[in-house]
Amino acid sequence: MSFELPKLDYAYNALEPNIDAQTMEIHHTKHHAAYTANLNKALEGTGFEGKSIDEILLNISKLSTPIRNNGGGFYNHNLFWKLMSPSGGGKPTGDIADAINKFFGTFEKFKEEFANAAATRFGSGWAWLINTKDGLKITSTPNQDNPLMDIAEVKGKPILGIDVWEHAYYLKYQNRRPEYVAAFWNVINWDEVSRKFKL
Ligand code: MN
Repeated sequence: MSFELPKLDYAYNALEPNIDAQTMEIHHTKHHAAYTANLNKALEGTGFEGKSIDEILLNISKLSTPIRNNGGGFYNHNLFWKLMSPSGGGKPTGDIADAINKFFGTFEKFKEEFANAAATRFGSGWAWLINTKDGLKITSTPNQDNPLMDIAEVKGKPILGIDVWEHAYYLKYQNRRPEYVAAFWNVINWDEVSRKFKL
C-alpha cells in the first residue's frame, strides 16, 4: 500500500478569482504529485511502509529528511485542498466559532493573528490554526513541517492551514503574499474546519 495523490473535490478554476486555475493545476499535478511519489520512494525499506501518514509524522524525528519533507508535503496538501471550497468564505458558526471567540476574542482578531503568522513566516512554509490540550493556537512552520510532527516547536492537530510557499501564489500575486492571504478568507471551507475541530 503506497500513498496516492488525491483527486480534488472541485475544478482547478473553481476558486477563481481568489486562487487562479493555473496555480491550482501546477500545485496539484506537479508539486503535490512529486511529494507523494517521493514519499513512497523514501519510505522503501524503512519499516514504515503501510503506516498511516499521521503515525509517520508523529515519529518523524526517527526518519530521514526526505521523509520529513515529502511526508509533510503529502499531508499538508491533502489537508489544504479540503480546507478550500468554491462555496467557502464567510464566517465560522457553531462550536468552532465559539472556540475562536474564546481563544482570540473575536473573529476579526483571529483573522489578524492568522494573517500575521502567514505574512511573517520567512521563506517557505505554512501558517496554522491548531487544536491542543490547552485549546486553539496559531502557529507556523518552515518548509513542509507541520504541528503533528514530533519535532514541531508548537504541537497540535492542524484544523486550518495556509500554504505560503511562493508556488502557492506567485503566478497571480507575485511578491504580494498579504493579498493572497486576504483572498484565502473568501474560499475557506468552514464546514471542513469545523469537522476537523470536532474529530
Ligand atoms: Mn504547496
